Amino acid sequence: MEPVTETSTQARSPARGGLYAVLMARAAGLPNDDLLARMLVSQAGGQSALPAGLGLASCDFRALMGRHFPGFGLPAQLARAPDFGERGVEWDDLLALLMQYRAGADASETWLALIVATACMGGDHLWQDLGLWQRADLSQLMARNFPELTALNIRDMKWKKFLYKQLCDRAGVYVCRSPTCEACVDYAKCFGPE
Ligand code: SF4
Repeated sequence: MEPVTETSTQARSPARGGLYAVLMARAAGLPNDDLLARMLVSQAGGQSALPAGLGLASCDFRALMGRHFPGFGLPAQLARAPDFGERGVEWDDLLALLMQYRAGADASETWLALIVATACMGGDHLWQDLGLWQRADLSQLMARNFPELTALNIRDMKWKKFLYKQLCDRAGVYVCRSPTCEACVDYAKCFGPE
């Protein structure tokens, strides 16, 4: 398991720290246990854009919890996977991108592809909408689960912008305002601190 870094309000909150500790006490010792615990803690505290069940269908969420935190109790009723309406095509494209680049090392990569695509529908920085505790958590998630995709982010573009830029480069659907980032007036929105 990876150590907790006390770098956020979530980490400093006794209540959140309590839930995190309970989850990690039941963690299976698999890749992503720690990151999933952070997301679950934030979601439970209303500090992410993810719905109950991290946006997964109830069967997938049950499978995730059973695999990563065996013995942890689940609510009787779990939310259904969200319907994004007109943004469903966008969500589908993001999911397809992430699925294509799965590392193929762990079953949780598929769940994380679904979770990350869902969090991209939020309006804040992706790491915050995922309920992660710092941007480095998201960088770790991407590097572990989607390493070849991560390797393409050679200039450390903000993650949500980076994912949409991949879609833009592929299909020209999500049109950037400039053919090159260097000449773009939105450069600061895509690069720099999150
Ligand atoms: S800097 Fe401009 S061109 Fe580059 S990804 Fe952002 S919006 Fe698109």
